[in-house]
Amino acid sequence: MDLMAEKWDKQTHRCALTQAYLPILRGFFCVAAAYYAVMTVAHFVTRSGTELVWFSAISITTVIAALIGVYLLARSRSPAQVDVIVLFINLLVLSNVLIALQLDFNRTKLVYFIVMAMIFAFSGTSLRQTIPSIVVAIVCLFAQIFQYAPELAGLYGFIAFASSVSSIAISASLRKSIALALAERREAERGRASAELLAESARAESHTDSLTGLPNRRAFVETLENRIQTPRAGRDPLWLVVMDLDGFKPVNDVYGHRIGDELLCEVARRLRRHCSGEAFAARVGGDEFSILRTGSGDLQEMQLWCDQLIADLARPFEIEGKRIHISASAGCEIASADDTSAALLENADYALLHAKRNSKGSAVVFDACHAQAMEEQFQIGQVMSSDGFESELEVLFQPQVELSSNRIVGAEALLRWTSPTLGQVSPAKLIAVAEDAGTVSRITLIALEKTLEVAAHIPESVSLAVNLSAMDLRSDQSMRKIIDLVRASRCRPERLEFEVTETVAIDTHVALRNFERLAQAGHRIALDDFGSGYANFSLLQLLPIHSLKLDKSLIERPSDPVGRELARAVIAMARVLRIDSIVEGIETPYQLALAHALGATRGQGFLLGKPMKAHDFEALLAKQTDSPTESMRRSA
Ligand code: C2E
Ligand code: MG
Ligand code: MG
Repeated sequence: MDLMAEKWDKQTHRCALTQAYLPILRGFFCVAAAYYAVMTVAHFVTRSGTELVWFSAISITTVIAALIGVYLLARSRSPAQVDVIVLFINLLVLSNVLIALQLDFNRTKLVYFIVMAMIFAFSGTSLRQTIPSIVVAIVCLFAQIFQYAPELAGLYGFIAFASSVSSIAISASLRKSIALALAERREAERGRASAELLAESARAESHTDSLTGLPNRRAFVETLENRIQTPRAGRDPLWLVVMDLDGFKPVNDVYGHRIGDELLCEVARRLRRHCSGEAFAARVGGDEFSILRTGSGDLQEMQLWCDQLIADLARPFEIEGKRIHISASAGCEIASADDTSAALLENADYALLHAKRNSKGSAVVFDACHAQAMEEQFQIGQVMSSDGFESELEVLFQPQVELSSNRIVGAEALLRWTSPTLGQVSPAKLIAVAEDAGTVSRITLIALEKTLEVAAHIPESVSLAVNLSAMDLRSDQSMRKIIDLVRASRCRPERLEFEVTETVAIDTHVALRNFERLAQAGHRIALDDFGSGYANFSLLQLLPIHSLKLDKSLIERPSDPVGRELARAVIAMARVLRIDSIVEGIETPYQLALAHALGATRGQGFLLGKPMKAHDFEALLAKQTDSPTESMRRSA
């Protein structure tokens, strides 16, 4: 193997040397052509008759041969070809001198052979080519000497020997120096090439997600920047899709990280297949993926493409014998000519957030309504961060009635914000912006503080419900502050019920642990808006729940048999689990009767009492008579 490599190396080395010599050889041939062209003219001036014919014929032949040599050298690449061409031209030049001497011997012209030999030594690319040329030149020299001037043999013998040996030696060392320089250059080039290769592989590594092999966030952002900066005039619009898996964290928590990793790899495989070379897909975070694709400017086409992708990911995954179901939500945006990558990402992220909040497992394409909502949220965020915001917050209390006795047994605390600049801002919008800004925990504490103040002024038997955000549940620190605040107030913990929306209830381990902490602190926990999402019955076994709040939508249209039957099933389930069932959104006597008939424990709604100021609620409680529902109907 080494021998072969050495042979190969010598071969490439020889080729490189020949290539380096080519300009020298071409120069030598050009000089020869020019010289013999001049000589031809000189022959026409100085000679005549047969002599002129011979001299001019041989000179012209040499000029032509030298020019052909230049032409051939420009095209030949192999050392052997070059050797043959040079040897041929050398012999032609020699025969030129030889014929000239035959026609007109002049002893001074014998020096030509010596000069020829030296030129051959310097212009040759190898010994195998120079030695024969030099030998022929010396032989021709002595042939002429012995024929015309034998007395010069000694002198010319010495000169020929000395000049040949010295020129061969000098030219050999010259070739060696050139070869060395070439070898060094080649080595440097090799070094540069391998450094470039290394840099390229390092670049590829730093741009690849090691788990799935997809490009990573850095690669995605760079590609997005490049595509955005490339002029898009006359090109297909660019689609940006940001995607987040739904239900991935529980898979990790329940089956462990190995299965979670395998699932991500499978997701990446399906993603690649769906993109099938026409889109650029990357894993930009734990369970987040982003896609760039050129497509038409048609929103419906984009929606269809994304829907198909999401449907593909919703098919169950078979991993290590386990059948795993997850889904994905996506936010999409089409780049317009003046979009920046930051604006594009922001819009797509907004659409994703929208999908996550309102329609998990679907793709939402960013549109004008989203742009308006984004603007509105931005305004809310700006005003929220100004001084005095907290003092503008108020908490209203909406009564909750025990359906068996028609007595008010509690109330839900609902936040209200009246901003001097924005007017009334709905709590849902306020909470959404605060969640994004990371300030929702502070708002929860304000609502809780105000609720505790009221708790101190109303009968002990009346409980109060406070809504928690998903962020509160995900933060140990917020949870500690909530528990500490109640403890410091001396309010009995069981008087406080914390409401958590079903859809955000258990998406992390921390949330699950915080549920336990709340329950251990003696608080009641209500699962809010139950039935608006998945009506996840398994949650009821998993969590320490005390009440189920049926979503308004279930009794919104009492004539709707599906909603009614679902409400019946949920209430029956609560009864089996020995927990309270609260029917929300009771607006009509028919709905109240229905809630009663279905066996719900408590009712809440505009019919029984609208959200009211604290002192009104306190007054209402004070007024509670033997026939409380009647008085409440009047007050509503
Ligand atoms: P939620 O916890 O489900 O609260 C019930 C919502 O239904 C309240 O809307 C209430 O005013 C409304 N409602 C009550 N009875 C009826 C009725 O008969 N008909 C109709 N159509 N609606 C009724 P609100 O006050 O606008 O609050 C909306 C959501 O904002 C709440 O839904 C809750 O998720 C959130 N929220 C309110 N206050 C807070 C808070 O202090 N913290 C947190 N994290 N979220 C809050
Ligand atoms: Mg609630
Ligand atoms: Mg609710």
